[in-house]
Amino acid sequence: MFALTIVKTFLASLSTPYLSRQPFRSMSVQADRPLVGSLNVTFLGTASAQPSSTRNHSALALRLGPDVWLFDCGEATQHQLQKSAVKMGKIEKVFITHTHGDHIFGLIPLIAGLLNGAGGIVEGGEDPRLHVNTETASLEIYGPLGTRAYIRNGLAYTHTHLGGSYVVHELRLPSDPQFGDFTKLPHHTSECLFGRNIPSDNTQWLDIFKDNAVSVSAAPILHSVPCVGYVVTEAPVPGKIDPSKYIPELKRTKTPLSAMRRLQQGEIVTLSDGTQLHGPPRRKGRKIVILGDTYDPSPIASLAEDADLLIHEATNAYLPGVDPNTKETDSYESVEARTKSRGHSTPQMAGSFAKQIRARKLILNHFSARYPGDGSDESKVIMGAIAELAVSEFGQDVTCATDFMSVDIGFSDKNAS
Ligand SMILES: [Zn+2]
Ligand SMILES: [Zn+2]
Repeated sequence: MFALTIVKTFLASLSTPYLSRQPFRSMSVQADRPLVGSLNVTFLGTASAQPSSTRNHSALALRLGPDVWLFDCGEATQHQLQKSAVKMGKIEKVFITHTHGDHIFGLIPLIAGLLNGAGGIVEGGEDPRLHVNTETASLEIYGPLGTRAYIRNGLAYTHTHLGGSYVVHELRLPSDPQFGDFTKLPHHTSECLFGRNIPSDNTQWLDIFKDNAVSVSAAPILHSVPCVGYVVTEAPVPGKIDPSKYIPELKRTKTPLSAMRRLQQGEIVTLSDGTQLHGPPRRKGRKIVILGDTYDPSPIASLAEDADLLIHEATNAYLPGVDPNTKETDSYESVEARTKSRGHSTPQMAGSFAKQIRARKLILNHFSARYPGDGSDESKVIMGAIAELAVSEFGQDVTCATDFMSVDIGFSDKNAS
């Protein structure tokens, strides 16, 4: 009995920080999110199929103020998070682009880490994790068909109990089964029953998540297996206000300065003498497009237009004279054909898509193991050459991501339409 009490106390101490996580809800119960403020992308893994000592498998964190959304979760993402400035305990949502292992093998360990999934109780003991409230979800996961089955099977066969709940929403293509979970296993004890199978609307999934501050839409992109790109769009934000334009008028008419708050929201304030002050127009919110692996992302083009940031893969490049491994028999055409045949893109293809959607900024990721991500002179030359290939099509600066690279996303200063 004493031993059991110790186990229970230990478990309670383990689970406290996780169980106190802000619970999430089905679509119908969205809490208000404060304005996002800073918006930041941190790359946690930038390798393609083979990780290297300088590049881990795919994952990136989008930080919306204090909240964290993860896009893809390759092997050892949990380790990468621990080495980064991203707070793992703040992860609200995970978006999976496709179920290739280099994008999802880290998801079950991450769920276990986030939701107190370590260890078990011998027969006769009582594990509070078997009685988790699944009416709200502590972690929301989005992904294509198979994401839910992968997680459920992975948790079941590893005997993993969780101290918090999770839900999986799947983006179903017209060719997918529209109903069911794609597995015969019953729900895990911590899996919420309100996981949606979201049908595509004219080959896109609009507003798969939306609250007052931000929305997420998705569309299929072409790869060797079903794959999804995500578009995160911030709602319009208050315009920049110049107090010197308003305060003298407010003072002159003895209007309380609290009217500045309404002006800041873009409202019209009528003064006692009939003068109308117009607040600054609201600014367009920021748009970030995060693509998974692709040889042709054109189905997402209309959703992705005017992105403030496009993140596009560039797995292989033709770099004669720069990459010592370039084959003599190769040409740009042969490298592009080989890259496409494997479902991937060259830097030029990424640059061309960025130009097509009028992106403000392009960052490349998902590089072949041939292209190292360290700070050596050799890497800088190779990655600089890869960026230049994309620039040749895009016409603007291009950055090649490295693991732990962190980028703040600014406003375009366009007015909201
Ligand atoms: Zn990949
Ligand atoms: Zn892939």
